[in-house]
Amino acid sequence: MAGKKCSFCGREEKDVNLLLAGISGHICENCVEQAGQIVKEELKKKGSFSLNDLQLRKPSEIKEFLDQYVIGQDEAKKFLSVAVYNHYKRLKHASIADDEVEIEKSNIILVGETGTGKTLLARTIAKLLHVPFTIVDATVLTEAGYVGEDVESILSRLLQVADYNVDMAEKGIVFIDEIDKIARKSDNPSITRDVSGEGVQQALLKLLEGSVVNVPPQGGRKHPEQKMIQVNTKNILFVCGGAFDGIEKKIAQRLNTKVVGYGNSKKVANINKANMLQYIAPQDLKSFGLIPEIIGRLPVLTYLQPLDRDALRKILTEPKNSIIKQYVKMFDVDGIKLTFSQEALDYIVDKAVEFKLGARGLRSICEAIMIDPMFEFPSQEISEFTVTKEYAEQKIEKINYQMLKA
Ligand code: ADP
Repeated sequence: MAGKKCSFCGREEKDVNLLLAGISGHICENCVEQAGQIVKEELKKKGSFSLNDLQLRKPSEIKEFLDQYVIGQDEAKKFLSVAVYNHYKRLKHASIADDEVEIEKSNIILVGETGTGKTLLARTIAKLLHVPFTIVDATVLTEAGYVGEDVESILSRLLQVADYNVDMAEKGIVFIDEIDKIARKSDNPSITRDVSGEGVQQALLKLLEGSVVNVPPQGGRKHPEQKMIQVNTKNILFVCGGAFDGIEKKIAQRLNTKVVGYGNSKKVANINKANMLQYIAPQDLKSFGLIPEIIGRLPVLTYLQPLDRDALRKILTEPKNSIIKQYVKMFDVDGIKLTFSQEALDYIVDKAVEFKLGARGLRSICEAIMIDPMFEFPSQEISEFTVTKEYAEQKIEKINYQMLKA
């Protein structure tokens, strides 16, 4: 009697590792794998992204959602909510096809010190919309021909998170961090042309304004043998973020000249010098070294406030997945009821302020306090624990301050 064979590829039992039996046939492990792949791809095609799936949330709803995760920053939240709402309205509008009025793309630029919540805002928006989202760092981007990554590699990342579903990727959100680092170093191009910065900006412009771009699927540098994937950036929402260190001076300069120009001295008196960012305008970005074309493609400009003590205290406990809530949850899994005294929480905030670490520092300070309990408690018979101020102090004093500051 003939030996058993795979009913799909015909391989004999001796030629395969595994042969599964069905009612009236067999299948080998190779065919199972291949069939699995086909199923996955077919399902992906079927389930491809449709605009109708996209729930259009009202700006106020978007802001409410952001409020659950991000403390303060009301101005930025408002701008972002409207921009995202308009962006998706624009997508729907485009599908209805009305040639008369075309709603322009509303890419966004967020200006604010590091650790004030720029990335968090973008990330939270992406969570709400269920679209592919990626964060890229502008500092790694270089002009073609130099060491670093081509600007197109931004889209490689987006493709990767979209599981190479081009349709999905074309409606995603890209957060470009540290956009200020590709600024031209001088405001006056005729004196010092900082070619590298300007070259990257020019390349970036192409993506921002919406065009079909050849993307290397694996990212990095393009090379001739590589197969490219074409991605249309027309409907990709770009959110740029940067600290723009020193831009306050440019803002102050502009406000002063304006005031002198119009002879309006009252205006100067009303300026809140502690928070100059609130007066930011596109021309300040130009003075900082962004080319006007880029600024033109980032029509929504808004700012984030530096976080004060009060905000830091809220960040610690209030967001839906706040740091403290995360620790409580982690211990809860081990059956330990963890609490923090109010004084301990105040102390953590004090330290973050003292070390000038901002919101990012809250986490490292908490880690320093919690490392011993996290190490010891799971193997001890403990059912409850309260982190007091004294306990926190003792742990913080033990460790090297320099380490936290780094
Ligand atoms: P940025 O992008 O502005 O440099 P991030 O958004 O990466 O800063 O913030 C760093 C971390 O600090 C976040 O992961 C978050 O835990 C915390 N954080 C910063 N700002 C806020 C805020 N306004 N509300 C809640 N958490 C914040």
